[in-house]
Amino acid sequence: MVKVTIDDKTIEVEPGTTILSAARQIGGEVVPPAMCFYSKLPGTGGKCRTCLVEVSQGSEKDPRPMPKLVASCSTPVMDGMVVKNTTSEKVKVGRGAVVEFLLINHPLDCPVCDQAGECHLQDLGFENGGEGTRYEEEKRTFDPVDIGNKIKLHMNRCILCYRCVAVANQLTDKRVHGVLGRGEHAEISTYIEKAIDNDFSGNMIDVCPVGALTDKTFRFKSRVWFLKPMEASCECTKCSGKTVVWMFGNEIMRVTARKDQYGEVEDQDGKTGWICNDCRFEKKDISKWNIIGPRKINRHSVISQGNYTSPRQTIKKLN
Ligand code: SF4
Ligand code: SF4
Repeated sequence: MVKVTIDDKTIEVEPGTTILSAARQIGGEVVPPAMCFYSKLPGTGGKCRTCLVEVSQGSEKDPRPMPKLVASCSTPVMDGMVVKNTTSEKVKVGRGAVVEFLLINHPLDCPVCDQAGECHLQDLGFENGGEGTRYEEEKRTFDPVDIGNKIKLHMNRCILCYRCVAVANQLTDKRVHGVLGRGEHAEISTYIEKAIDNDFSGNMIDVCPVGALTDKTFRFKSRVWFLKPMEASCECTKCSGKTVVWMFGNEIMRVTARKDQYGEVEDQDGKTGWICNDCRFEKKDISKWNIIGPRKINRHSVISQGNYTSPRQTIKKLN
């Protein structure tokens, strides 16, 4: 085991554990945000830079600090490493710059965006963003694209985290999808449509941290904070049938997988928690579900209705 200290909290973890995973084992406010890393999807991480941390001591043997901020999702811990996240002024400035960069081309769509209220970019912007923009150039724009008949891609909102590409990669053997172009011209390839015949393609919606991929059976039907998330199950031959149904009165407005506090799909009974397209898109009739009870949304976001706390609010309370 190796010992690592993050924001003055020390933990022993398996060798090879990344700083982000070690922070998640500690839990709470020491956990850096992550927009592209997704523990259930191999190969994700290292793209969005939101999880940057300061390493003020490299290891017990070599205590020199690392010269630059490092991506905590892809940097393994060393024995005796000391990491600063919320306690680092450099991280605060760096993360603010990353947020500003992510928002350069991002539209002000929140009032009409289905992701509003459960959007990781909203949370990130609220906690780390500036009050205004310095960007004067025209934002890049794309027309919305249908990915199959159930998913809509709004490339304007995409932050190029590659999570959906990783899901599509898991679904198909053929490498016919991904990101085309680079820099200003980078966009999710519509070749991703080729992965859409798969029974599990809807999981791309669940992994998207923003409102770039939306469920066409739910679009514009309701703001999420008006809905009641309920744990539900059904007999399904394709997936575990364990989901969250989002209800307005007795009506099921949408069905999603069960997610943890990091927005990641939870394993169910030791098996993967990805849900099939039949459960997600076709079962909106309440008689098809066994409603188990209210689902606690374990996230510091407006989605957890009335339980919103953020570092900024905590600081205000302390003052
Ligand atoms: S993706 Fe998030 S930040 Fe962007 S418009 Fe939608 S809710 Fe707003
Ligand atoms: S569409 Fe969503 S999941 Fe896919 S790369 Fe863009 S932001 Fe990430």
